[in-house]
Amino acid sequence: MRENISVMAADRPYNDYYHYLKNRFGAVTYKVSVDGGFTCPNIDGTVARGGCTYCNNRSFVPKYLNRKDSIRTQIDRGVESQRLRYGAERFLAYFQAYTNTHDTVDRLEVRYREALDHTDIDGLVIGTRADCLADPVISLLESLARECYIAVEIGIESVYDETLMRINRGHDFSAVEQACERLAGRGIHIGAHLILGFPNERRRQWIDSADVVSGLPIKYLKLHHLQVVKGTAMARQYYDNPFPVFDFDQWVELVADFIECLRPDIAIARMAGSAPSGMLIVPQWGRKKHSEVKQRVKELLEARGTRQGIAKFTYY
Ligand code: SF4
Repeated sequence: MRENISVMAADRPYNDYYHYLKNRFGAVTYKVSVDGGFTCPNIDGTVARGGCTYCNNRSFVPKYLNRKDSIRTQIDRGVESQRLRYGAERFLAYFQAYTNTHDTVDRLEVRYREALDHTDIDGLVIGTRADCLADPVISLLESLARECYIAVEIGIESVYDETLMRINRGHDFSAVEQACERLAGRGIHIGAHLILGFPNERRRQWIDSADVVSGLPIKYLKLHHLQVVKGTAMARQYYDNPFPVFDFDQWVELVADFIECLRPDIAIARMAGSAPSGMLIVPQWGRKKHSEVKQRVKELLEARGTRQGIAKFTYY
């Protein structure tokens, strides 16, 4: 894939989500996590039981969140926290835990509207699976998108069917392509998650993933390194038969290589996973944080004199 495409801001070698949101809303905009009380079809038996082998939902839900609290209370806490930590001025409610389109349309609408009724909320970000977007749900999202910003975040995780089968994902990559096709052109912003590092995959495949996701109509991407987390099937696999995971420098180099192949208009919302230290088995990077990954990747791209998409797309 090689095409002419306009570039991101000249002062950054990659297109970052912070500026994507700031440009969209004209102010520093952050997401506040909301637990809508949903479950997941890959856990409750609708698709499968046991969930994805790497998944422990407790590892990606912020500490301040309690699903027993009302959505209003959850948002109040999140807004206060993001204002203090990041100077955030505008906010999106992020339905993050489990699969946030896995319910009847009526109940989904009640939950979404509860968040949108909060005076600090300018829109929704809804995390879900590619196989959990029935037509009536997409119609609901399309009608909400006429009123405010609506993003649907799809867990791709891997573009390789063999991996998706091994991790008990419960759908193949064509489900992702079909979901993107059905969401596109309806005013709904599409985001995606991708995990690099599954033990059956190789480096070349991770770089090639950039090409594959560049072909999807996504606006932003969250890139995660594989983390082995307590209480998961993958943790048991790791204890029985340890496999290699990225050290910090290997990961920084891979992310830089990946970004060089990624379509330049895709905003990068994450460059690493961030499981809480008490739950993480490997890799252990000490006190290194997500912000440090971003800084090191930026420095590496600058040192190389390259930028997002340079290897695949022609700049003008
Ligand atoms: S990763 Fe997502 S789809 Fe997989 S089991 Fe966990 S909540 Fe369900």
